[in-house]
Amino acid sequence: MSSSTKYIFVTGGVTSSLGKGIVSASLAKLLQARGFKVTIQKLDPYINVDPGTLNPYEHGECYVTDDGAETDLDLGHYERFLNISTSQNNNVTTGKIYQTVIDKERRGDYLGKTVQVIPHITNEIKEHILKLGKDKNYDVVITEIGGTVGDIESLPFIESIRQLKWNLNKNVLFIHLTLIPYLSTSGELKTKPTQHSVKTLLEYGIQPDILVCRTEYHLDNGLRNKIALFCNVDQECVIESIDAKSIYEVPLLMLKEKLDTVVCQKLELDQEIEPDLKKWNEFLNNLQDPKKEINIALIGKYVELKDSYISIAESLIHAGSKNKTKVNLHWIHSSKLEDENCSELLKDINGVIVAPGFGSRAIEGKIKAVEYARLKQIPFLGICLGMQCAVIEFARNVLKMENAHSTEIDSQSEFPVISMMEEQKQLEKMGGTMRLGSYQCDIEQHTLLHQIYSKKTIHERHRHRFEFNNQFIDDFESNGMIFSGKNIKNNLMETIEIPTHPWFIGVQFHPEYKSTVENPHPIFLSLIKAGLEHASSVK
Ligand code: GLN
Repeated sequence: MSSSTKYIFVTGGVTSSLGKGIVSASLAKLLQARGFKVTIQKLDPYINVDPGTLNPYEHGECYVTDDGAETDLDLGHYERFLNISTSQNNNVTTGKIYQTVIDKERRGDYLGKTVQVIPHITNEIKEHILKLGKDKNYDVVITEIGGTVGDIESLPFIESIRQLKWNLNKNVLFIHLTLIPYLSTSGELKTKPTQHSVKTLLEYGIQPDILVCRTEYHLDNGLRNKIALFCNVDQECVIESIDAKSIYEVPLLMLKEKLDTVVCQKLELDQEIEPDLKKWNEFLNNLQDPKKEINIALIGKYVELKDSYISIAESLIHAGSKNKTKVNLHWIHSSKLEDENCSELLKDINGVIVAPGFGSRAIEGKIKAVEYARLKQIPFLGICLGMQCAVIEFARNVLKMENAHSTEIDSQSEFPVISMMEEQKQLEKMGGTMRLGSYQCDIEQHTLLHQIYSKKTIHERHRHRFEFNNQFIDDFESNGMIFSGKNIKNNLMETIEIPTHPWFIGVQFHPEYKSTVENPHPIFLSLIKAGLEHASSVK
């Protein structure tokens, strides 16, 4: 549409966790709904090359793209909001930037020069930002800078975007997301932290164009004027971002505040087309006015931090809305299930999901949950490690293979029903070496999976090192567990089913990475339907 790509930078002030990812994704949604070709990227200031090696307690879920990048969970929000596929290029960390610069230095690319933060690191950052816009000819690239303004570690990113403003001038816009705290003792909203945060940005040479203000209470005109005056922005550029019940309401709240309108004005983007949010509104209406209700249990070992399983939770919201069903998600720590109280903890549950994961902690509880769902005929979905737990449970309790296990947990098991993929055995490095990204899976006819997808071949995203051990295929198949999806090229069993059970599926891939507001994932849609049937059968 436009001849030159526009760059919007979103920084955060005062505190972390204000929802920069959601505000960025909401703005992107509104611009996309106006017909612009939009993408978003995230710059993370930490030194890890990617979040693949991070424990979920650190930054929540590690999201995986089609091209196999292990990324920040915000990329999941971008894909879910925009219904687009992101890639390696949509997430960059300080570690990745430094790695590239150091590789170049070793190759001799800077020969003779002292390699420094400015200009070498900042140039690499700028190149990375611009590359995304150029690659696919986007009208707008939104770049979210992780962390909070004032942090030492994000300084090179801030300096890079300052330089980009200088380079590209009118094609660059700065949005600063900040907090207007409410002091209950004086009953007032306070603007001072925002003034300070903008002052810090000004010290770095950046004048924000728009302030998005997170608040618990509405901002009146007096307050908006005050913020505008002290922070040097137009009054219509003070945007209220009030706490919302659902992240999916935020695009509409931003529309009401005219965030997209001021962005278009400032960047001289065509404003003739009003945003078309028909599908989004349909989704939201169903979400806010459900006709039915079910209870789904999510069994994992990181349930204290809900961000660890965010894509699964969001997939259930998408599929629930499509089925006009409220999904009550019960987060259950798998260690609790180790004490034989499954029937108490899983009472009134209409569907059990055993989550992905790594390592031995609390694994026996996951295996118990599978057994309970299998015997009680409760719809069951095992994702990645969850599928592996279903295989282990079946081996131990149906095939009577005592102490059957995954070699990830018991390398000496007599029945290693899950074992390491051959190509993984030679690897020494941990980072970025799993089976990652999108792989083809062929579906057997006359299976539940075939009914769900109505397709013969699918592509789903992976993140694991271990697989079903094909040495045991016959034992499983002759006793009632089938392999409905396979990777033909490498002869890998990608999915399991128990045809005598109402709905029992295990998938080695992660369907949750591909569910979006516009395209809820068929596996989750089917799980909700099975959950509804279960709910009506136990009434
Ligand atoms: N730890 C298991 C493996 O590496 C499962 C991984 C996962 O659940 N993402 O195969």
